[in-house]
Amino acid sequence: MANPTLLILAGDGIGPEVMNEVTRIIDWFGEKRDLKFDVEHDLVGGAAYDAHGTPLHDDTMARALEADAVLLGAVGGPKYDDLDFSLKPERGLLRLRKEMDLFSNLRPAQCFDALADFSSLKPELVAGLDIMIVRELTSGVYFGEPRGIFEEGNERVGVNTQRYTESEIDRVARSAFELARKRNNKVCSMEKANVMESGILWREVVQKVHDEDYPDVELSHMYADNGAMQLVRAPKQFDVIVTDNLFGDILSDCAAMLTGSLGMLPSASLGAPNADGRPKAMYEPVHGSAPDITGQGKANPIACILSFAMALRYSFDHGDEATRLEKAVEKVLADGARTADLMGPEGGTPISTTEMGDVILAA
Ligand code: ATP
Ligand code: MG
Repeated sequence: MANPTLLILAGDGIGPEVMNEVTRIIDWFGEKRDLKFDVEHDLVGGAAYDAHGTPLHDDTMARALEADAVLLGAVGGPKYDDLDFSLKPERGLLRLRKEMDLFSNLRPAQCFDALADFSSLKPELVAGLDIMIVRELTSGVYFGEPRGIFEEGNERVGVNTQRYTESEIDRVARSAFELARKRNNKVCSMEKANVMESGILWREVVQKVHDEDYPDVELSHMYADNGAMQLVRAPKQFDVIVTDNLFGDILSDCAAMLTGSLGMLPSASLGAPNADGRPKAMYEPVHGSAPDITGQGKANPIACILSFAMALRYSFDHGDEATRLEKAVEKVLADGARTADLMGPEGGTPISTTEMGDVILAA
């Protein structure tokens, strides 16, 4: 049988730096575990704009649709701030998500014991924390029409539209309930049904999907602002959180700080299953291109490495190998390996991106 294909889009800023460590790990799995992938590399974001004048070339889009999974680094940077909206690096990412129809974004927030002290919360609030935020990714205010800056009377008005159809809510709710069944059978849905029509529909549809097909899963509803508060007050009350595109963006960054650093957080974006049952999928670290530390060897590669672990688990049915990789990360952290972003106030000497890759490979 042919090897599964992995399309690597390293992107901009620290994207190529952290992806370099992942490439070494992919090679390791090929050599030591006989787990071989056909790896292809292509451009996205500012890197694609520099080469082709567009943040995502049509050929790259076609390759992404063909690949068994896409691994993405990060896009964007100050160099591209003045570009027209349609040419911005982020548009490349949004196009990938949209055309691959990756409607369900899985963002785990898991606290490694060795980093519990480093959380923005008290260690006892986060020790053992393991929550999964499921963020709707292809609709909502990021895509709703009308959008734009319009003339209105003698001034301009900036407009975005929050819009959800029943089917969009239905499918992301299902993915959250399916996930909950593989975890602890508990889902909390977040919206703002008190002030938003889309929130009223969201709550109604999630409840209906639950009552009809997932009555065994414990479901609660929460306003997203309260959810943000609860996340920093008592995060362990949650298991799976399902929410819309914008609230999910904010809540998952908030959850990020519970676990220590943005540099630790992987994500998966899944679409509908293909004919072979494998969902279209893209894996990427939650963090951005981090222009402030680009090119200095300071970036923490763990978020990107754990994203590859998620690919092993969700796209390739190698949960055991994913666990192997996650255990290696856990071990090096327990042994005290720290990139600069993981240094506590007591200080110490951080290791570089490549050195972190080295110790994880050794483990
Ligand atoms: P974007 O708009 O692309 O999401 P952002 O403004 O949210 O970008 P990030 O690029 O994610 O910002 O960076 C936020 C902060 O976190 C920066 O100070 C950055 O240096 C730090 N950071 C992000 N990723 C990492 C990483 N992998 N290792 C170390 N520090 C990181
Ligand atoms: Mg961001």
